[in-house]
Amino acid sequence: MNNQIKQLKEQLCWASQEIYQRNLVNVGEGNISVRVNGKKEMVITPSRNDYRKPIPEDMVHLTLSGKIIEGNKKPSSESSLHRVFYNARSNVNCIIHTHSPYTSSLSIQHKGIPVIFEEMLIFLGGSVPCAKYAMSGTAKLGKNALETMGNQNAVILANHGSLVVGKTMEYCVNITQLIEKMAKIYVLANYSSDIKKIPEEKQVDFRLRFVDEFSTV
Ligand SMILES: [Zn+2]
Repeated sequence: MNNQIKQLKEQLCWASQEIYQRNLVNVGEGNISVRVNGKKEMVITPSRNDYRKPIPEDMVHLTLSGKIIEGNKKPSSESSLHRVFYNARSNVNCIIHTHSPYTSSLSIQHKGIPVIFEEMLIFLGGSVPCAKYAMSGTAKLGKNALETMGNQNAVILANHGSLVVGKTMEYCVNITQLIEKMAKIYVLANYSSDIKKIPEEKQVDFRLRFVDEFSTV
């Protein structure tokens, strides 16, 4: 294993523990991957990833066509979801998928999150839409997610959870948490009143900041 792959595996271990400590994932669900720079390859967490004590040796190195290059364990069953994005978007370097509870509660209503906070415009480029249902483990899940994501960096997967793509792992970790917080606020607010969105004309400047810094298109 060369140094570059070793570092990427360590990055997956770091992100695994981060999202576990932030209560965004339970052991055995969700998945994280990273692109191997300059190659048609990625490294992904294994099936039933142990987020509490991940070890680099458990991470699986694959080609973007799905062939295993190296790994002691089975790759995550959502590998094809990740491959769809790396193949379609050259600026996506990292991906995180979770079943965090508030985001998942919107997913079972097939609902996205409208633009309710400015952070959503700056970091995500706008709302978080909900993609059409497709069975987990299928390439169709990735296709629906890619189509629905548009020019932005996140979607909710119907009856499933969240998907965030980005240029860096730190961004994906933070944005997975941001989406869960926005989902929580939105779900809680829905119990008592109608939701006021940020007016369209006020959204433009924030969106430009997203395009400058975080866009992966
Ligand atoms: Zn999942």
